[in-house]
Amino acid sequence: MQFRDLPSVDRVLTDEALASLEGVFQRTWLAGLARQQLEQARQRIRQGEEAPSASAVAQAVRRAAQAAVTVSPRRVINATGVIIHTNLGRAPLSKAAGQAAVLAAEGYSNLELDLADGRRGSRQAHCQTLLRQLTGAEAALAVNNNAAAVLLGLCALAAGKEVVVSRGEAVEIGGGFRIPDVLRQSGATLVDVGTTNRTYARDYADAITSNTGAFLKAHASNFRVEGFTAAVECGELVELGQRHKVPVLHDVGSGCFLPTEKYGLAHEPTPQESIAAGVGLAFFSGDKLLGGPQAGIVVGKRELVQRLERHPLARAVRIDKMSLASLNATLLHYLRGEVEQEIPIWRMIATPPEKVKARAEEWRSKLGEGASVIACRSAVGGGSLPGETLPSWALALACNGLTGGAEAVMEGLRSNDPPVIARIEADQVLLDPRTVLPEEDSPLLEAVTAAWRAKHD
Ligand SMILES: *Cc1c(COP(=O)(O)O)cnc(C)c1O
Repeated sequence: MQFRDLPSVDRVLTDEALASLEGVFQRTWLAGLARQQLEQARQRIRQGEEAPSASAVAQAVRRAAQAAVTVSPRRVINATGVIIHTNLGRAPLSKAAGQAAVLAAEGYSNLELDLADGRRGSRQAHCQTLLRQLTGAEAALAVNNNAAAVLLGLCALAAGKEVVVSRGEAVEIGGGFRIPDVLRQSGATLVDVGTTNRTYARDYADAITSNTGAFLKAHASNFRVEGFTAAVECGELVELGQRHKVPVLHDVGSGCFLPTEKYGLAHEPTPQESIAAGVGLAFFSGDKLLGGPQAGIVVGKRELVQRLERHPLARAVRIDKMSLASLNATLLHYLRGEVEQEIPIWRMIATPPEKVKARAEEWRSKLGEGASVIACRSAVGGGSLPGETLPSWALALACNGLTGGAEAVMEGLRSNDPPVIARIEADQVLLDPRTVLPEEDSPLLEAVTAAWRAKHD
């Protein structure tokens, strides 16, 4: 055992690797980090490793101290090709939407002030009109996220009542959002009808009682049922509901305003279609296919939206000023017809494969042997368009013969500043230019040079 070769905490703290941190960080805090590092070294010694030098421990303390004071979450480069990447913060904002959030954050704003008469205003005023114009709805409300929007809707309209849901739509979206659980939490009772693969209008009709509060439809955002299937369209459910005074609530999911078919993708339901079909309320996220900030948006009949606004939970799930400002800026891109130019996720979806390929070729030309350009698929991701992919191209880095192989290259890319997130296919590291923002080319190439190219030399 080499425990006695381990340096003391004092010896580590006086090492020159920590000299520049003196006076910057508290000594007791650095001593705590040193103890943690020494404890880890002890464990490695037990597994047969040698005792590290004082300087090696000091450098580890330095890295831990720097990591602890780096603002987090950090900006990363998404080279995975997954456009709405849940682990990487879903949709990146447009320049205008980012600036709107910064303006709202760094100064005062007329968040709840009517500038015309100087009286108190509603924060909802900033997005309501645009949301109504863009979806055709009578009324609109923005809250913290879509899970909150659905919960608020059920609490306000269906607590103590029965809510009829198709068995094929009692879904789990991920991250703990499950339709049956949300329903229970709202105080409503789930009445599931039909079967996993087929549900008919008569199934809903048979479930109606004097205590039916709503029909709830939910978009199966992250899976697809194929083959012998049947579901009831919103329009048909609305007709049935009207005869029995039961509102239809529709969790549309991704908040897609554009026809996805135009980009060679399957049809993604839009809030406009739900509104046109006459649903009572439609719910959707702000940071999926809408391409804006985290938000939950409710559009629909005025009388129902007002009931949500007045419910006590509305205050608990209200949208913050930064998200509201960037939501407004995002919606303005739709109004001005500049979605493909300005909203990053739609620019990524609309980029033709040849253009992605040209960018991958450009990267390859700077890296030399072992790098190639191969055909691949980019996923839309993020709880929208399940299983749908776009034809794409990637830079492929051969990793055979490198110590640690592709995994080691991935780790090197992640430890870069900024970290680069890629994927592995057939022992190669793939970097898909589709999701890499235009200004990220040179930091990406520097990262690849350090984590891969340099290992060949
Ligand atoms: C993503 C999703 C949600 C949750 O939305 P958040 O904005 O993440 O809270 C709820 N329902 C459906 C159908 C979804 O696709």
